[in-house]
Amino acid sequence: MTISVIAFDADDTLWDYEIIYEQARPEILRLLGSHQENDELSAILDETEINNLVVYGYGVKSFALSMIEMFANHANGPIDKTTLKELIVLFKYMLSKPLEVNQYAESVLNRLSKEYCLMLLTKGELFEQERKIQRSGLEKYFDIIEITSQKTEKKYRQILEKHGIKPHQFLMVGNSLKSDILPVIGIGGRAVYIPHPQTWIYETLPEEEQGGGYSQLDHLGQLPEYLDQMGVFSS
Ligand SMILES: [Mg+2]
Repeated sequence: MTISVIAFDADDTLWDYEIIYEQARPEILRLLGSHQENDELSAILDETEINNLVVYGYGVKSFALSMIEMFANHANGPIDKTTLKELIVLFKYMLSKPLEVNQYAESVLNRLSKEYCLMLLTKGELFEQERKIQRSGLEKYFDIIEITSQKTEKKYRQILEKHGIKPHQFLMVGNSLKSDILPVIGIGGRAVYIPHPQTWIYETLPEEEQGGGYSQLDHLGQLPEYLDQMGVFSS
């Protein structure tokens, strides 16, 4: 098999991102008036976010709208001006916090960009994702950048067709079985799953739905050696 295009997921594959939400959640609960980690409220918070995905899509701005809804429905008493200001500061911080780029990203992309066509394929809000790509300093390694609202089989097919890529030439690398791996296997591509310790509950799958047909690595630094061993070089 000859792979000529390697696509990378961005959030929690090339840089840490779920951690930003994980750090924000207790802060939101505190502002809501729950001074201790409240499991029930925390579950409602996730549920509100997930239910709103169909209306708002992914990203911090969508998260912010969902959190305002949380306050409207679950705040202890009326929301004062100070709390609102604290929320706005939190959302702006989430949008501007420096990215923790994966320690292997630069060297792996630099090496692979000499032999493959590299694609950055990320799901989220256009402006937010563009800013993160610019801030990461990794943009220069990619021949193709695709920002999509969803990562379904249909979307992958459309993106591949748009660039004239056949599924058997395509390999996707990412941390979400649901978004990065199974849909790519479903359309006849190859996929390398690199789990990240912080993965949003929505992106996780129960064991019986984790499927197969993909490879799994412990970290991004193992990717070049994996490709060498698989003999999937383009030349
Ligand atoms: Mg990801």
